[in-house]
Amino acid sequence: MTKKDMQFKPVTHVLFDMDGLLLDSERLYTVVIEEIAGKYGKIYTWEMKSKLMGRIGREAAAALVETVGLPITPEEYIYQSQEIFRRVFPSCEVMPGAEKLVRHLKSKKIPIAVATSSSEETFKLKTTNHREFFKIFDHIVFGSSDPEVKNGKPAPDIFLICASRFPDKPAPENCLVFEDAPNGVTAALAAGMQVVMVPDPRMDELNRSRATFCVDRLENFKPEVFGLPPYDSAAT
Ligand SMILES: [Mg+2]
Repeated sequence: MTKKDMQFKPVTHVLFDMDGLLLDSERLYTVVIEEIAGKYGKIYTWEMKSKLMGRIGREAAAALVETVGLPITPEEYIYQSQEIFRRVFPSCEVMPGAEKLVRHLKSKKIPIAVATSSSEETFKLKTTNHREFFKIFDHIVFGSSDPEVKNGKPAPDIFLICASRFPDKPAPENCLVFEDAPNGVTAALAAGMQVVMVPDPRMDELNRSRATFCVDRLENFKPEVFGLPPYDSAAT
């Protein structure tokens, strides 16, 4: 690798968001929320979604109820959505390129973890068909059910806690985050980490430009630009 290939500060540890980044679950969240909104004659727009993505637990539900204008309490929304989640989440798929990148980093002994706003309960539903894949990670932090994570994204808490759980406790500047959501990008930057955004194709330019680096598909990411080992085929 030549020096020219390296445009960013080299990193040693990698943290992954899950929904919409490792799993195509953001698509399923949209289906579920549209179904509930439709019952009350409301519309759930991309504009609303892009602002709400990545938030945790009751806080996320309250923001959603308010933004969409649902005539129900956050608790009722949670109850209704969980019923639909149980039906749709087991059909979650892994995003293109995610497995290739994660297995590559693991094979090169790069410490990797997941920092997801999900609870452990919904994680289990979404990963019904991907148990082996998620065993590759050194650890997983569940923002909605971890007692240490007090504030969801866009607060930096989840990434700082996730990094601190590696045995060698890397400094934030040695960590690279992968995110698909504006709230997640804000959280990673607030944690003092570099962040690669892999956004939904509808994401606007302003939100894309806030990330350290933006790539249209995870499979097009070149690890060596952040000082990580290149794919073997790219090394020749
Ligand atoms: Mg996400």
